[in-house]
Amino acid sequence: MTYDYMIVGSGIAGLYTALLAQKQGSVLILTKGSIDDCNTKHAQGGIAAAIGEGDSPGLHFQDTIAAGAGLSNPEAVHLLVAEAADRIADLSNLGVPFDTVNGEVALAKEAAHTVPRILHAGGDATGEHIEVTLSRRVRQSGIEVLEYCLATEIIVEKGVVRGVRALDCRTGSVEEFLCHNLVLATGGAGRLFKYTTNSEVATGDGVALAFSAGAEIMDMEFFQFHPTAIRLPGTHPFLISEAVRGEGGILRNVEGYRFMPDYTPDGELAPRDVVTRGILYEMQKTRSDRVFLDITHLPHHVITTRFPHIYRFCLEHGLDITKGLIPVAPAAHYMMGGVKTNTWGETNISGLYAVGEVGCTGLHGANRLASNSLLEVLVFSKRVVQKPKERPAEDTAGMGEQSYYSLPRRNFSGGALLSCTALQTLMWENVGIIRSGDTLEKAANTVSAWEKTLEKPSDRSSYELNNLVLTGRLMAEAALIRKESRGAHFRTDYPEPSPDWLKHIVLRRD
Ligand SMILES: Cc1cc2nc3c(=O)[nH]c(=O)nc-3n(C[C@H](O)[C@H](O)[C@H](O)COP(=O)(O)OP(=O)(O)OC[C@H]3O[C@@H](n4cnc5c(N)ncnc54)[C@H](O)[C@@H]3O)c2cc1C
Repeated sequence: MTYDYMIVGSGIAGLYTALLAQKQGSVLILTKGSIDDCNTKHAQGGIAAAIGEGDSPGLHFQDTIAAGAGLSNPEAVHLLVAEAADRIADLSNLGVPFDTVNGEVALAKEAAHTVPRILHAGGDATGEHIEVTLSRRVRQSGIEVLEYCLATEIIVEKGVVRGVRALDCRTGSVEEFLCHNLVLATGGAGRLFKYTTNSEVATGDGVALAFSAGAEIMDMEFFQFHPTAIRLPGTHPFLISEAVRGEGGILRNVEGYRFMPDYTPDGELAPRDVVTRGILYEMQKTRSDRVFLDITHLPHHVITTRFPHIYRFCLEHGLDITKGLIPVAPAAHYMMGGVKTNTWGETNISGLYAVGEVGCTGLHGANRLASNSLLEVLVFSKRVVQKPKERPAEDTAGMGEQSYYSLPRRNFSGGALLSCTALQTLMWENVGIIRSGDTLEKAANTVSAWEKTLEKPSDRSSYELNNLVLTGRLMAEAALIRKESRGAHFRTDYPEPSPDWLKHIVLRRD
C-alpha cells in the first residue's frame, strides 16, 4: 500500500499533522518508542499567543524578532503570530484543558515576552496534557500507528520521496513503507550533549536522515541551552521552567548573592542565552557546578498551584522548594536549526516535509523565544496539510540571505574511542554554551574521525548513535563557519555580532 501521508514521530508535530492529514487521505504514523515517548510531554511553561488585554500579534512579532537576534524569518514570524489565536482555539476544541482564572484563560509571563501571553495547562504540565489529548484523538480516529518502529532511511527516486525503510525495534527486521508525502516530525537533538533537558528520543534522527537523503540543513550552529535545569547528583537535568523566573524567581550564586543584575539590567528575565552565560560565568567565578533559584519569597499556594509538577518532582528528590533553594545549572534544550523548509513545510526534496523541532523555517533565528515552539508546530503542521496541490513550490527567499556549504574533508585520526558518552562530553565541552575556533576544530576533527569508524547499525541504539554523530558533525562545522557571536552561538574568538554574518548557513551533501 502507498499511504497518502506517512508521518515519522508522535510528539505534538506528528500527532497534530496526522489528525489534519486524515481529512486528506490515508495516514500512517511511525514512531520509535511508545506513542508518548517524546519531548512534547515534558513541556512545562506553555504556548505563547497574543490573546490577552494589552497584547497584539504586532507585539508578539516584535518580541520574537528581537529574540532571534537579526536572523528570524519575518514571513514565518508573521504567520506564527497572526494564526496563533485560531490554532490555540483548535487545540482547545480538541480537548486540551488550558488553565483559567475567573473564567478567563490564564496567561503567564516568561522571559523576553513584553507582556503575559503564555497559556498553560495543569499549571506546569502543558506538554503532558497536549500529548495525552492528541494521542487519545489519534487512537479514536483510527489512524494507523506503528510503535517501536524506527525510520532508518528515506527512499528517494529521481528527486522524489517514495517512502522510508524502518526497523522494527522489537524483531530487528527492516521493512519498506511507501507514501506520497513523508512528514518528518522527529524532534530535536538534545541528546548530543552531556547535560540536557531532552528525553531519550532526541537523537537528531530526522536531520541525519534528511541530510543523507540530500535535503538541505540550516542554522545548525544555533542550539539553545536552558539556563535552569536541576543539578543534583544522580538526577537527570529536570527542567525548572522559565515561568518560575517569570513569577519572580531569583538567581543566587553559591554564596547567596543575586548576580544577574551585574550582567544585564533585565536581570533574571533577560533572554535565555544571556541568563545562561551569566550563570556559567558565575559558576566559574565561584568554582561551583551550580547556582540556586530562589522562590522561597513566593506564597506557598502560588508555588504549589502554579508549579505542581516541579514542586512534586523536587519534593520526591528531598527538596521542599517553598522553603529551600533549588540547585540549577544550564542544560541543552532546543535545536533552532534543522531541515530547511519553506513556510509550507516543504524541503528541497519533492514530497518531503519537516515540521516541529526537526524543521527550520528560520522562524527562531539565532535564538528561540520561550513558548514559541509548541505554537510553531500548530501553525506550520496545518500549512503542511493545507498546501493547495496546484500551488507551485515556494522559494525560501523570505528567510533572507543563505550561504551554502558542503562538509569539508578532514583527515584527522586517533583520539578517544567513540561511545555515546564520549560524544556527549565532547559536544558539551567544545560545541556548548561558550565555543571558540579551537574547541570547534577539535570537535569537528574528532567527530569526523568517529564517522569513519561507524559500523553498520543493527538496532535502535546503534542507529541513534550514527545519527548523533552526523548531527554533531553538522553542528560543529556550522559553528566553525560562523565567525561571530549571535544569539545562542557565542564564540570567544569572535565575541561580537558582525553584519557580514546576517545570513543563514545551509549545509548540503556533496
Ligand atoms: C523539558 C522541556 C520543556 C519544554 N517546554 C516548552 C514549553 O513550555 N513551551 C514550548 O513551546 N516548548 C517547550 N519545549 C520545546 C517543545 O516541547 C518541543 O520543541 C516540541 O515538543 C517538539 O515537538 P516535536 O513533535 O517536534 O518533537 P517530539 O515531541 O520530541 O517528538 C518527536 C517524535 O519523533 C519520534 N522519532 C524520532 N526519531 C525517530 C525515528 N528515527 N523513527 C521513528 N520515530 C522517531 C520520537 O520517538 C517522538 O515520538 C520544551 C522542551 C523540553 C525538553
